[in-house]
Amino acid sequence: RAKHAGGNRYELADPEADARAITRHGLTTALPVALERGEFFIEYQPLVHLEDGSVRGAEALVRWLHPQHGVIGPDRFIPLAEHTGLIVPLGRWVLEESVRQAYTWQARHEHAGPLRVNVNLSPCQLTHPGLVSDTVEILERTGLAPGALCLEVTESALIGADEDLLKPLRRLAEMGVDIALDDFGTGYSNLANLRRLPVSVLKLDRAFTQGMQHYPVDPVDLKIVEGIVSLAHSLDLAVTVEGVETGAQADQLRELGCDTAQGWYYARPGPPDRLHELALADVP
Ligand code: C2E
Ligand code: MG
Ligand code: MG
Ligand code: MG
Repeated sequence: RAKHAGGNRYELADPEADARAITRHGLTTALPVALERGEFFIEYQPLVHLEDGSVRGAEALVRWLHPQHGVIGPDRFIPLAEHTGLIVPLGRWVLEESVRQAYTWQARHEHAGPLRVNVNLSPCQLTHPGLVSDTVEILERTGLAPGALCLEVTESALIGADEDLLKPLRRLAEMGVDIALDDFGTGYSNLANLRRLPVSVLKLDRAFTQGMQHYPVDPVDLKIVEGIVSLAHSLDLAVTVEGVETGAQADQLRELGCDTAQGWYYARPGPPDRLHELALADVP
């Protein structure tokens, strides 16, 4: 194939882009079959209390074990699943699987305090009419307390959200499910807007943590995080930070008053039993 390059010249389209397009198409058509065949699996990444280092729960992160391509990360297939609508049944599967897993941790882990699970929601799931009833049904069927579930919604999905979009989240929040604002700070946050959202957790995007990798840390960056944390706390929101890769970052973020951390410094995403081991390891 060729693309017009101006004048009478033609040049070959970027062959890599072509390969990506084919894969994209291939992946898209393979998605529904993959769900039927059970090719998806979930890794859990610990959420750690910054003050004492204890494991409080984990974020569920979906992966696809493709029979030809091996493990494919969510950044590659979630957008495709969103585009085709498959995200609704896939998201429901992730929710059920994660909630079931959290129940198992709790049963095996009584003395360590309740382990919670965070599950990501796509914008399409937010507007799907079954969100509240599916969630209620899954919680009832598994027996997990609503307070042990946190649903993560990206900041960009809620920008400009009207009451209709917020209503299901409000219903879930009233039941005791936590709602977290994911990737916070990457969009155009209207900070004043926060108070009308039914969220109880702010997840500071990795971009902020990355800014703390090199010393000396830009004092303006520190001021910004400090400001966000104090605003969040004054609105009764807990602050979780993503992408903590070093002990120095963890120290800095603890000093800035962040509550919970997640990142490679503590643990990479891993199988559910690994979380169980990590959580048990820090029981005194
Ligand atoms: P996210 O919700 O912001 O998840 C955090 C991402 O950061 C994960 O990438 C995680 O593996 C990665 N991460 C964690 N700690 C570190 C660190 O210290 N350094 C670095 N560089 N990265 C770290 P992952 O697993 O590839 O997921 C990417 C995105 O895919 C997620 O971003 C989330 O938006 C989406 N996603 C994952 N699972 C699901 C799901 O079940 N449903 C939906 N709708 N989206 C999902
Ligand atoms: Mg998330
Ligand atoms: Mg995030
Ligand atoms: Mg992120």
